[in-house]
Amino acid sequence: MVNCTFCRIIRKEIPAAILYEDEKVVAFKDIHPVAPIHFLIIPKEHVEDFYNLNETNNSGILSAAKWLIDHHRLMDKGYKLEINGGGAQIVGHVHFHLIAPVGAPVDV
Ligand code: AMP
Ligand code: ZN
Repeated sequence: MVNCTFCRIIRKEIPAAILYEDEKVVAFKDIHPVAPIHFLIIPKEHVEDFYNLNETNNSGILSAAKWLIDHHRLMDKGYKLEINGGGAQIVGHVHFHLIAPVGAPVDV
């Protein structure tokens, strides 16, 4: 069992505002948002870095991102998807940041 923060969110051992979940993917609100919408999309399998993703273990991330884009009408608002990797990554479980609207101040 992997004890990283995001694996613990997947196992519901620590709380998170979960917005989307299926058998392969979870999406939840970033705890320190940089924009009004700041979600993290992660594979349920513990994959450390973007570099370790492949055709098998990335399954579901694109469709989850598109579901969130549709559900929050982000085609109208504008959005960006961001991935930090290597030494630029703080949490060692690959995650896609979905951020919108681009350039908007944080409303919290
Ligand atoms: P990075 O690894 O640099 O892409 O950044 C990790 C991101 O995870 C940051 O934006 C944090 O705010 C976010 N984060 C860390 N712990 C949690 C948590 N328990 N719940 C939600 N977001 C988190
Ligand atoms: Zn993990």
